[in-house]
Amino acid sequence: MRGNLRVLGIESTAHTFSASVVGEREGVITNAKDVYLPPEGSGIHPAEAADHHLSVAARVVREALDEAGAQGLDDVDAVAYSMGPGLGPCLRVGAVTARALSLASGKPLVAVNHAVGHIELGCLLTGARAPLVLLISGGHTMVLAHSNGVWRVLGETLDLTLGQLLDQIGRHVGFASPCGRRIEEAAARSSRYLRLPYTVKGNDVSFSGVLTAAKRLVDGGAPPEDVFYSVQETAFAITTEVTERALAFTGARELLVVGGVAANRRLSEMLRKMAERHEASVMVVPPQFSGDCGAQIAWTGLLAYRAGESLAGVAESVVRQSWRLDTVRTPWRA
Ligand code: AMP
Ligand code: MG
Repeated sequence: MRGNLRVLGIESTAHTFSASVVGEREGVITNAKDVYLPPEGSGIHPAEAADHHLSVAARVVREALDEAGAQGLDDVDAVAYSMGPGLGPCLRVGAVTARALSLASGKPLVAVNHAVGHIELGCLLTGARAPLVLLISGGHTMVLAHSNGVWRVLGETLDLTLGQLLDQIGRHVGFASPCGRRIEEAAARSSRYLRLPYTVKGNDVSFSGVLTAAKRLVDGGAPPEDVFYSVQETAFAITTEVTERALAFTGARELLVVGGVAANRRLSEMLRKMAERHEASVMVVPPQFSGDCGAQIAWTGLLAYRAGESLAGVAESVVRQSWRLDTVRTPWRA
C-alpha cells in the first residue's frame, strides 16, 4: 500500500447515482452525482431509477475522476461500491459499474454497507469519534452505538422511516419525491398544531399512525402547511424522545446526526435542546453530504481497504438488498 491511499467510491442504492474520489490525507476530493426524479406525486420506480443510473454512470464516474485531477484509474488504489441495502435494480448498476472498472484497471473491489457509509462520512466531516448515532434517511430510522466491532441498534422504526413518512405525506399533496425540503419550507409558515398520534414502543418508534391521520387531515381540507408543521413536530418529538433515552443510557458525549433528514433545521433544534441537558454536543453532517453520495462509499471503502478488507474477485461483487447494519463487520473501529 502506498503512503496516501485514494479510493473511488460508487453509490447507487436508490435515487442517486454518485461517484467520488477520496484521499487518506485530503478527505473528500470530488463528489459527482446525478439524481433520478420521479414524476410529481409518485414515488421512486426501481426499474426507471436503474435506467437513469445506467444512462449517467459513465459520465458521473468520468467527472469524479477528472475533477480529482486523476490520471484515470491509475491514481486510485481501490474501487468501492455500495453492496446494499437498497433497491435491487439500482444496486446492480453500481455493482456492474464497479466491476467493470476493477476488471479494466486491475484495482481491488471493496464492498460497502450504505448505512455505514452515512455514519463514517459523518464522523470524518464533523470530527465525531465515539458518537451515539441517529441515522435518519429514506431507508433508515435508527439510533446506534458502536460496541464490540459492530454498530448496535438501540432503537429503530417498526414501520415507516422518517424519510418515507415525509415523502409519502408530500406525495399525497402532489409533491415529487423526495419531499423533505419542501415540507420543511412549508411547515415554517405555520405554527398551528393539529393533533396526531404519538407512538413510542420501548425504545422503538412508529410513524404509520401519523401518516394515516395526516392524510385524513389533508383529505378533510386542512391547510397543507398546518399538516406539515404538525407532522414535523410529532415525528421529530418521537425521534428526540428515543434518542434522549439512548443518550442517557450510553452516557455518550457526542450525538452524530446523519442521513437525508439530518438536513432539517427544526429537528436539529429539538435535538440540540435535548442534548444540552445531557452535556452532549450535537454534530450534524453538512447538508451537501447528508443525502446519499459517493463520498460515503469512497471514504468507508478507504477505511475498510486500509483495514485489509477487499473482495477476492469480481465474482464476489454481488448485491444485498437487505443487509442489516448490526451484522456488518467494522474492523477499522476498536
Ligand atoms: P437519503 O435516503 O439519505 O438520501 O435521504 C433522503 C431523504 O431525506 C428523503 O426522504 C428526503 O425527503 C429527506 N430530506 C431531504 N432534505 C430534507 C429536509 N430538509 N428535511 C427533512 N427531510 C429531508
Ligand atoms: Mg441513504
